[in-house]
Amino acid sequence: MKVTVFGTGYVGLVQGAVLADVGHQVLCVDVDEKKVAALKAGQIPIHEPGLDALVINNQQLGRLQFTTNAEEGVAHSELIFLAVGTPPDEDGSADLQYVLAVAQTIARHMDGPRIVINKSTVPVGTADKVSAVIAAGLEQRGVRYPFDVVSNPEFLKEGAAVGDCQRPDRIIIGTGNPASEAKLRELYAPFNRNHDKIVVMDVRSAELTKYAANAMLATKISFMNEIANLAERLGANVEAVRRGIGSDPRIGYHFIYPGVGYGGSCFPKDVKALIHTAKEVEFEPLLLNAVEERNHAQRHVLFERINAFYGGQLKGKTIALWGLAFKPNTDDMREAPSRNLLEALWAAGARVQAYDPVAMQEALRIYGERDDLRLVDGPLAAVQGADCLAIVTEWQVFRAPDFALLAQTLGDRMIFDGRNLYDPALPASHGLGYVSIGRPAHP
Ligand code: NAD
Repeated sequence: MKVTVFGTGYVGLVQGAVLADVGHQVLCVDVDEKKVAALKAGQIPIHEPGLDALVINNQQLGRLQFTTNAEEGVAHSELIFLAVGTPPDEDGSADLQYVLAVAQTIARHMDGPRIVINKSTVPVGTADKVSAVIAAGLEQRGVRYPFDVVSNPEFLKEGAAVGDCQRPDRIIIGTGNPASEAKLRELYAPFNRNHDKIVVMDVRSAELTKYAANAMLATKISFMNEIANLAERLGANVEAVRRGIGSDPRIGYHFIYPGVGYGGSCFPKDVKALIHTAKEVEFEPLLLNAVEERNHAQRHVLFERINAFYGGQLKGKTIALWGLAFKPNTDDMREAPSRNLLEALWAAGARVQAYDPVAMQEALRIYGERDDLRLVDGPLAAVQGADCLAIVTEWQVFRAPDFALLAQTLGDRMIFDGRNLYDPALPASHGLGYVSIGRPAHP
């Protein structure tokens, strides 16, 4: 089948490549000329395991193409995916300007029936807004073509996006139109062979499903961080508690790790947007408010520990930082907890020597060259000449360090671990102080 995808970010590019890989003819459209030029040249602008080969291979086979020409995109196919960004507006609501801009473009250029499939995360009611924009655009042109707007939210995880799109847990299709449903079933048939993963529902429920999923995951994290704070104050060990509750199948082990708070491009903005949606219908979302507040506080915890250790005297200190990305296997630093830590350390007059396996280019893009940030080429280079070490991303490469070497290298022999990577006895046995989340401090 022919497919057009508007937006070649984490969602659009991965989805486009995965659809091409099963044999569909995919044309990806983006307004970012540099990005499209790079993609045409076989350069993949984001880090996502397995994506480079998938894109390049399908490009060479002629099944995956890129353009900035929106008219060409609209003409290419009856099926048009929207996968553009929906960043938070100042009031926390989802900014729909990119989604609605594509809707206008579609109305301007469509020359026959179209099914607009919304993959961006958008508030309940957005499909109606997209429909209204397309209808108004067609009326302005004095033409009539049948069209439908379907909600098909995306659940991929950054860092595992290719596998998630190739083997989705579920495919939500929000539509009341049997013809649209049939087309989407045909499109997704290659991903639906093992057992039926397609869940069809009305458009508004599909739109809400995406927010409910992310809000639930954010709630699990904030809940566990709340328990971690309690554990610290009660002399308990949150890691023991985690294993103790995870063993109950009604709770499960997934997503109950305490840490430095959730980040990334989705959870913070989606929880905020859902709070905003609730308020619009005059409902006070007590639980969601608390999830967000706990997260906000948690993102400052590591700085507070470091600052307390130095008695508020961080000026002139050099902090080694392991991890910049908001989670492992991605270069994404949107709303990353590392940014709260970096900015607080700089404000307190400290310098940072940071290492991340893939996000250093992104850090440079965000912060530029500055005297108080040295980006170095390995975990050991980061600790050279540093007073202490802070860890914010649980990359594999940080999981089994040479503690003896760290003890020799770190001026103040201290590790502040925001991800609970180590058994506290290990650093302690090498004479290192170790502060983690929700566990008794060592020594
Ligand atoms: P992104 O910022 O990485 O990419 C968006 C792309 O859209 C950019 O390349 C931008 O240039 C392009 N764009 C903007 N306006 C355009 C236009 N008029 N025409 C064509 N292209 C245009 O965003 P993303 O992370 O891929 O997220 C896209 C949507 O998917 C968001 O709503 C997000 O909430 C949702 N989502 C993201 C993830 C994730 O893990 N990143 C997961 C599920 C859902």
